[in-house]
Amino acid sequence: MIDLPKKLAESQLKIGLETHLPLKTKSKLFCSCSTKKSGRPNTQVCEVCLGLPGSKPTLNNAAVKAAIKLGLALGCKINSPSFFSRKTYFYPDMSKNFQITQYEIPIAENGFLMLGDKKIRIKRVHIEEDPAKIVHKDNYSLIDYNRSGRPLLEIVTEPDLNSPKEARAYLQKLSLIAEYLQIFDPADEASMKSDVNVSIFGGSRVEIKNISGFKDAEKAINFEQIRQKNVLLTGKKVVQETRMYSPVAGSTTTARIKETESGYGYIFEPDLPYLEFSLQEIERVRNSLEELPDQKKQKFVKLGLNKATAESLVSEKALSELFEELSKKFDKNLVATYCLILLKTTNYNGIKVEQININPEFAKILEQVNTNKINKHEAEEIIRKIVELKIKNKAPAKINCLFDGESWDFDLNEIVEKVRAQNKEKDLSDPKILNFLIGQVLRETKGKGNIQKIIKILKRAKGKNK
Ligand SMILES: [Zn+2]
Repeated sequence: MIDLPKKLAESQLKIGLETHLPLKTKSKLFCSCSTKKSGRPNTQVCEVCLGLPGSKPTLNNAAVKAAIKLGLALGCKINSPSFFSRKTYFYPDMSKNFQITQYEIPIAENGFLMLGDKKIRIKRVHIEEDPAKIVHKDNYSLIDYNRSGRPLLEIVTEPDLNSPKEARAYLQKLSLIAEYLQIFDPADEASMKSDVNVSIFGGSRVEIKNISGFKDAEKAINFEQIRQKNVLLTGKKVVQETRMYSPVAGSTTTARIKETESGYGYIFEPDLPYLEFSLQEIERVRNSLEELPDQKKQKFVKLGLNKATAESLVSEKALSELFEELSKKFDKNLVATYCLILLKTTNYNGIKVEQININPEFAKILEQVNTNKINKHEAEEIIRKIVELKIKNKAPAKINCLFDGESWDFDLNEIVEKVRAQNKEKDLSDPKILNFLIGQVLRETKGKGNIQKIIKILKRAKGKNK
């Protein structure tokens, strides 16, 4: 007899992910319509992405190259030839009643992604088109075909992930690799959608469809794991099915009984050519691959940074490049410290370093720290303010004045003079007293203000008071 509670305590969770990664190509997969997200609904459309009768797709080579790059970065075999198929289904988001995808032979397969020392096997990477976007209103729905035909890569893992946290880490790593390859916009995390397969104790596989982003994937798996355990504890069996995750409710609900892939009736797409590459072509792409996050991390560790710092620095491509650029000029530990402060600040504001062009100001801050013109506390404050101003798209002039300390919400002169006036009988030549007064000033300013400047004003104030 199986000791169920004991077994439940063990990690028996198996998770496989099918992730849709939107590519940041300028135009759509099979037509020249723009992929920009800012357009008004149904303005970036043509006969191809609207699926009008008689229209023919033309393949976007940039999307194919992106697929090969990701395939190679994940250690996959690039298949040549591979081809496109039509996945037939009827739904308003797919106006031609089939989606062009790859089924029988994907462009890449049999790779892996490393999470620390653990190898997550990648089953396949294939190219497909995005369906249109449906916006559900109270008693009607709207369709925006701007999204129809945007290029996606679908990345499918083997069920090698064993915890909700690990699944989230996988998604983060996958998006990071794609960011380094410059095929994916990291600010687009929410549009990276995953179908998640979850099973416990080798039982039936439950698929949760279409989860946006990383955090929700973790939450959905967590919920599903608990739900399946509870089903088993009541002596029932987990039913193989498709479920939907509601981010609002934080739970999954039955969607429909799962159809098999063959139920879709894939047929060969006759309007597109086979994808064929010579070995030389593949090698050329391999040799021109961008430096990947793991490689960069190793490089930073060799420079003498600790692993955790290196890991944080490579967590965004723009940040890793900022570090590399500035550590040519300043001490690497100093640069690393302030890069991490910047990362903390942008994370707090929910943005990526790449989204604000902070490099010139950031270099100036380091310059000032390096020459002791400002202290760490002030530098942190300036970084915080600059990030806020950049988010609001404020003019650089306003940013520049931060360096003069003018934009603190207090007048340093006033505070120092007040402190001095309250202690006018004290002798500044005594270092203990000087430190005490500096401490008083910093208490008022909550740690802001350059020490040399404070001493200067204190001494000046002394003269006046006599
Ligand atoms: Zn189009």
